[in-house]
Amino acid sequence: MASSNQSNFLTYTSARAIADEFGAPVYVYDEATLRANAEAVLAFPNAYGLTARYAMKACPNAAVLKLFTGMGLHIDASSGHEVRRAIAAGVAPEKISLSAQEVPVDLGDLLGLGIQFNACSLQQLERYGQLRPGTEVGVRLNPGAGSGGNNRTNVGGPSSSFGIWHEFVPQVKELVAKYDLKLIRIHTHIGSGSDPDVWLKVSQMNFSLVAQFPDVRILNVGGGYKVGRMPDEKTTDLQVIGQPMKEKFEAFAAETGREIRMEVEPGTYLVANAGALLAEVHDVVSTGEDGYDFIKLNTGMTELLRPSIYGAQHPIHLLQAAPAAAQKDYVVVGHCCESGDILTPAPGDPELLATRSLPLASTGDLCVIDGAGAYAAAMTPKHYNSYPEAAEVLLTVEGAPKLIRRRQKLEDIWANEVPVA
Ligand SMILES: *Cc1c(COP(=O)(O)O)cnc(C)c1O
Repeated sequence: MASSNQSNFLTYTSARAIADEFGAPVYVYDEATLRANAEAVLAFPNAYGLTARYAMKACPNAAVLKLFTGMGLHIDASSGHEVRRAIAAGVAPEKISLSAQEVPVDLGDLLGLGIQFNACSLQQLERYGQLRPGTEVGVRLNPGAGSGGNNRTNVGGPSSSFGIWHEFVPQVKELVAKYDLKLIRIHTHIGSGSDPDVWLKVSQMNFSLVAQFPDVRILNVGGGYKVGRMPDEKTTDLQVIGQPMKEKFEAFAAETGREIRMEVEPGTYLVANAGALLAEVHDVVSTGEDGYDFIKLNTGMTELLRPSIYGAQHPIHLLQAAPAAAQKDYVVVGHCCESGDILTPAPGDPELLATRSLPLASTGDLCVIDGAGAYAAAMTPKHYNSYPEAAEVLLTVEGAPKLIRRRQKLEDIWANEVPVA
């Protein structure tokens, strides 16, 4: 596979300076891109008002949370711990909505702080009813279809455990009545996609659910707006997918007189291409004429797991002081003693190797892995082979790199171990 030598926002000079100052590997986030993405989300077409949430699990650093909430985004949290983390970063509890697989043990306390809650199973709804009878609540429903790119990112349909299956609406109604609840928000989040037809179909399914609950005044259509990381992948145009969705809200209002507010909650869209992982080549090896040429980096699945688990493709650039003219096909691998630590798997198949055409590599070359803003620093098999967490740096609009997470000290890795006598 060919790959250009132009990274999204780093040059050899800026990358060299950041690696020298903060060490490598290091995550770098581009403030200008983060802001532009947030503006695009805040401009999502809507008929009767919009609440745009950032799904913080994509990249939960406090600097990113502050930047986005400062621009008017609210927060979608996926666990009680994320709620606490957002509050610690200064986010007002009323702006945080929790949709979790696991109900936090301190749910009562979190609700007391004023967060919003989406019950994601019948048991969660029962639990909420017991804690807060007579109050307003949201439910996450699984409308019965997903549009995810592969099975593991498909979060709708019968093979997904997320949300209450749409056939259990009668049981939802029973619980709502039992605890005198007011169901004001329906939430569906069905996975990654960029196809306007799919989004329109989902809106239709969503409104057939809204129609069954007269108190609902907010429809949260979730996130999952696909972002192209590789040159041949497409990024969702929110204006294009949003327009027919907006018309659906208007049609529902014309039919029923109910003007429903819209919520969206992207993670990937906001951060994926605003982040890069900056690393160094630390070895170049070969397995002979019938084998492969390998570039070994001082990073890998410890900083970027997506290639290893999804076969996800990320642009890889070598930045060299004196750019090599010749190219070669390389397999790029990570630093873990683990055969699955591969940064160039076959697309969608983490079991297979693929190669990238890159400039002739030498030890010490800088390597930029683009599209590493979402589910990168946030999702790692932390501490495997005892590598400490990499630093995170925000490249400000003025072009100054600002440290937003220091590299972990080695001894932090075992700091919570309990010595045995
Ligand atoms: C993960 C998640 C999102 C964000 O998904 P992206 O694909 O990153 O946009 C939104 N809502 C919920 C409930 C999620 O779990």
